Amino acid sequence: MSDGYEILAEKYGYPGSERLKKILKRLMDEEEAEIVASLPSPVADLARKLDKTEDDVNKRLGGLFGKGVVFMTSKGYRPARDILQLHDATASDVRLDYIWGRELLDLWEHFCEAELYPGWAKGIQALEAPVWRIIPARKAVSAGTKLVPSEDLEVMLGKATRFAVVRCSCRRIAGRCDSPLEVCLQLNRAAEYAMARGTGKELTREEALEVLDVAAEAGLIHSVYTGVEVSNVICNCCNDCCVFYYPLLKYGGLDKGVVKSSFRAKVDVASCTGCQTCVDRCPFEAIDMIKVSGEKKLKAQVNTDGCYGCGVCAVGCEAEAIKLVEVGPSGQSSV
Ligand code: SF4
Ligand code: SF4
Ligand code: SF4
Repeated sequence: MSDGYEILAEKYGYPGSERLKKILKRLMDEEEAEIVASLPSPVADLARKLDKTEDDVNKRLGGLFGKGVVFMTSKGYRPARDILQLHDATASDVRLDYIWGRELLDLWEHFCEAELYPGWAKGIQALEAPVWRIIPARKAVSAGTKLVPSEDLEVMLGKATRFAVVRCSCRRIAGRCDSPLEVCLQLNRAAEYAMARGTGKELTREEALEVLDVAAEAGLIHSVYTGVEVSNVICNCCNDCCVFYYPLLKYGGLDKGVVKSSFRAKVDVASCTGCQTCVDRCPFEAIDMIKVSGEKKLKAQVNTDGCYGCGVCAVGCEAEAIKLVEVGPSGQSSV
């Protein structure tokens, strides 16, 4: 029998990683690891290779699908595409906690801290094009502002047909903040997958929009993958647990990996009460409190270069003194 764990560790970019192998061993036994490492492959071939019945192999694959280890395609099962898909799919399933407690999540945390986060940041620093894009919070933009379709959450949801929400795997693993968990929004094919697995809760379009608003209120950044015409996942991320933002903030690479929205925050000094809420909420530390001549209280000031245009500050400003202002896709502006 070949070492399926090692083959998979290598496939996911971490050859010889004992930490990753511990995760794989928690998720599948030796035979299952060999099945997964052999995919894609017809069930009949797998059954022959392992000296099992096709029924047995199918049952094993069904169980692995339920755990998020393999995915169903029109041509049969395939393993998780990459380490992030394995991370997201296996760690979002709260049902596994009833069997294993935090064991799987702790194994992921050890692997992430020691290998995934530094490796991910290094990989991003070497990339030609960013992989992640920020969508502005809709309540941070002044009423009447015309948004481009790729930044308009209502348009994005208007084009989708199925909606589901799953738990955020990053916050379940890292647990470094108390931001809401049930805000990882899945659309279309991704929603169907989450519902078929039983990890997703189906939503109406209106409920999906509410999830996005709740996330922005909680200070989470709407984020999507770049390079896809239609985004099937709208992530709502924090800066202290997210597998994208946390390592890029810790090890560097944010500018390489993340596309800013076409907005930047701007403060109306006269309306600013100096409460500092926006300073605490900004995930990118782009706001300072400064002395303004003639004013007794310190006022908020946005460092435009450091602003990513997420709008989290504006959503939390009770005085409505900070808003997103459009600067265009180049990000160059006179704000
Ligand atoms: S990418 Fe963001 S929303 Fe998605 S699982 Fe990670 S923190 Fe949660
Ligand atoms: S949250 Fe609003 S009022 Fe408070 S400091 Fe920031 S801009 Fe000023
Ligand atoms: S100042 Fe900070 S919170 Fe506000 S839009 Fe810019 S990056 Fe987001």
